[in-house]
Amino acid sequence: MTQGSTLLVVFDGLRRDRATPDIMPNLARFMEEGANFINSRSIFPSETRVAVTSVMTGCPPADHGLVANQFYHPLQPEAPFKTAEWEQLEMAANAGQLLDCKTMGQRMAENGRTMAVVSTGSKGASRMMNSSAHALNQPVFTVHGPPVSTEDLHEVITAGQGDIPAAGAPNSARVAYATDALLDFIYPKFSPDMCVFWMSDPDITSHQFGVTSPETVVAQKTCDENFGRILAWWRDGNGPENIVVMSDHGQITGACQLETVDIIPAHFGKASIGAFSGIYMDDPSDGRKAEVVDWLVEQDFCGLVFASAGDGTAIKGAFPWTAVRNNHARGADVGFTLRSTNSSETHDPKADECIFAGGIPVGGGMHGGLNKGELSTVLAAQGPAYRTQFPSDTPCWLPDIVPTILTTMDLPVDGTSGRPMVEALAGDDQKFGQAPSVETRLLSVTHKEHEQFLRQWVVNGKTIVDCGWTSGRGAWGQ
Ligand SMILES: [Zn+2]
Repeated sequence: MTQGSTLLVVFDGLRRDRATPDIMPNLARFMEEGANFINSRSIFPSETRVAVTSVMTGCPPADHGLVANQFYHPLQPEAPFKTAEWEQLEMAANAGQLLDCKTMGQRMAENGRTMAVVSTGSKGASRMMNSSAHALNQPVFTVHGPPVSTEDLHEVITAGQGDIPAAGAPNSARVAYATDALLDFIYPKFSPDMCVFWMSDPDITSHQFGVTSPETVVAQKTCDENFGRILAWWRDGNGPENIVVMSDHGQITGACQLETVDIIPAHFGKASIGAFSGIYMDDPSDGRKAEVVDWLVEQDFCGLVFASAGDGTAIKGAFPWTAVRNNHARGADVGFTLRSTNSSETHDPKADECIFAGGIPVGGGMHGGLNKGELSTVLAAQGPAYRTQFPSDTPCWLPDIVPTILTTMDLPVDGTSGRPMVEALAGDDQKFGQAPSVETRLLSVTHKEHEQFLRQWVVNGKTIVDCGWTSGRGAWGQ
C-alpha cells in the first residue's frame, strides 16, 4: 500500500439531500465522521460522461473537451457523436481527439502506481473512468464484458462468481456482484494505488421511477448496504489508506415531455436536443448566433442560453460559455437548457422540475442542466490523509477531486485545473489546512422578456457554478 492509496466510491445520480441517515445510514455516518464537502457541485452539462471525465482529468469540459454526453464531433459531422457508445469513443481516441487532458490512469502509470476500475455504469461512462486503461495494462472490470472489461479479468471473475446478473432497476444484483468482485478479486490480486468503484444506482432507478419513489429508495438502500460491506472490510485493515465517496450529479423531476425533439428550425443548423441542447451552425458568425439567440429566448421550452462571440464575449441575450467553464472548440455554437421551474428564491432541490426531451416517463428523474438539484452532489472522505468530523463549506466541484487525491499521494497536480482541497487534509497547517478565499457572484442577462441568472463561486480566482435559473414568462402548465 502506497501513500495516499485511494478507493473512490461513486453513487451515480445521488443528490446530496437524499443521502439521509434513514435511507443511507452507512454513507450518512461516513460523511458525518470524515471530511464532508457540504457545498460540492457537479459540472455543466450535469451529464454522467461529462462528469466522470471531469473527475478523472481534474478539469472542466472547457479543458478536457468531452463537452456533452452527445454532440457533433468534427470527426463525424453528419451524425451526433454518442459518448455512450464504445466504438465512437474508440474512434475519437484513435484520432487523438477524445480528450485534451491527461487522465488519472495516465498519471498513475507515469508515476509507477497502479489503477483499477470496477463499474456497473454504462459502457461509455466506464470507458471514461480510465480511457486508456487497456493500452496502459490497467485492470478494468465492468458488467459489460470485453472490450470494456479487461478480457482475462472478465474470465477469472465470471469463473469465480458465476455469470454477471441481468440489469435491473433497482440494479441491486449487479451492484452486489461488482462489490464481490472489488473485495474478492481486485484488491487481493492488484492492491491498486487508485481504484474507482462505480455504482449505477440510484441514477437508473431514479430516472425510471422518480427521485423520491419507493423503488429509488430501495436502490439507495442497496448501494448503501454494499458500501457498508466495503467499510467493514476496510476497517478490518484491508484495501486502501483512504476512501473518497462522491456522486456525479443529482436529479430533478421531469415534469413535462417535449412533444417532439424537432424544435430547432433546420436553417439554423444541426441540433442535439436533451436536458442540455446544442446547436451546431453552418454559419457560426456572431450575427447568425445573435439571430438564433433572439429566436430561442422567445420559445416556451427555452431555459438558460449560452453563446460566445468570436472574441469570447457573450452574444446579446446569452451567457458566454466561459461562465460555465464549457468554452471548448468542440462545443456547440449556441447551447441551451430546457425550461425548469424557477427556484431562484429558495434554491430548493426538492422543488426543481423541468421539461425533458425523452428517455424517461413523466415524473421520472432528469439531469443535465443547472438546477441546484442537478448540481448538488455528495463528496466526503475518510482515512489518514483527511481531517475527521470536518464539515467544509468551501465550495468545490468534480474537477477538484483528483488534484486532492494526487496531493495526498504527494504527486504533482500540473495540468489539472481543479483545486486540491487542502483545507480538509490532515497534517501541518502551514502546508495544509488553510481555507481559500471565496467570492460569490450573481450574473444576470435580460433579453426581451427572458431573464436568466447564474450564481457562481470564485475560489482562489477560479469559477465554480453553484446553480442557474430563469424567470420572466411562466413555466409550462401555468
Ligand atoms: Zn450519472
